[in-house]
Amino acid sequence: MRYIISFLLASTALPALAQVPRVVTDLPAVHAITAQVMGDLGKPDLLLDKGGNAHNFQLRPSQARALSQADLVIWIGPKMTPWLDRALVGVTVGGEKLELLAAEGTFRRDFGDMAAHDHANEAEDTDHAAKTEHAHAEESHAEDAGNTHAGLDPHAWLDPANAQYWAGLIAVELSQLDPENAATYAANAAATQARIATMDAEISAILAPVHDKPFVVFHDAYGYFADHYDLTVAGSISLGDATSPGAARLRELSDTVAAGGALCLFPEGQHDPALVTQMANGSKARIGAALDPSGSLIPPGPDAYDSLMRALASTIAACLKG
Ligand SMILES: [Zn+2]
Repeated sequence: MRYIISFLLASTALPALAQVPRVVTDLPAVHAITAQVMGDLGKPDLLLDKGGNAHNFQLRPSQARALSQADLVIWIGPKMTPWLDRALVGVTVGGEKLELLAAEGTFRRDFGDMAAHDHANEAEDTDHAAKTEHAHAEESHAEDAGNTHAGLDPHAWLDPANAQYWAGLIAVELSQLDPENAATYAANAAATQARIATMDAEISAILAPVHDKPFVVFHDAYGYFADHYDLTVAGSISLGDATSPGAARLRELSDTVAAGGALCLFPEGQHDPALVTQMANGSKARIGAALDPSGSLIPPGPDAYDSLMRALASTIAACLKG
């Protein structure tokens, strides 16, 4: 990391700001990682409001203004937050943009089998491609987000290895804008990565005893989490963008649950639990506490990433153990 930063300092001629950059972030997890990397130097803004739907959010005028005045916008990408993609097209953003999902080195996966059935036009041979593809260098915007990456799962912060990688990436980006504080950003990023490693080990221990117990989630957001912790997701009621589920999808999943194919069903705080309750009726499956994969119900700040990951782990483990 130190080497990368000194290399950047020596080789780039970006105009340095006289002060710490004004940073705007999209979601609580990205905000938390950025806040840790900035440390005492400054506080990033968070766009998603408490309880907001991460996929479908309406910016307030003050937030659009903050966006237009930002020195750096850090976000997952258009596949996750089409509302921010539209805003970035509509607002004149003079600052830099860091799209984490598109960064070389970010681990990307495609939606699993259940989602793949709903994207019938997708090439079938995407599993291997998703794991090895590091290209994706082009600036992706609305016009290509819907098609080229229809199978790409954007919930990438739920893999802690991505969060660790992004901490380093954010430090490099901040250092380019603010070279005077490069050493602080690098040290903060290293501390962030160490903290995530500790959390990851503890979560692994919590989830290991339930890793083979199948469960159903409300929306198809947990692929990265399930892959990383070797969990068994039997299906999701709604798609990866949390849109309303189709009748065929509901019927198929209800049959699975009725046949004993899931021990627990998990609702989400931002969505009506009625579908979950309906599906559990007449089966032996339990209804777990609500999951919050975007962390939108957690107080925002540097601790929010840790909190949201631990909450997912403990909620899933509590029901599956029961
Ligand atoms: Zn989602």
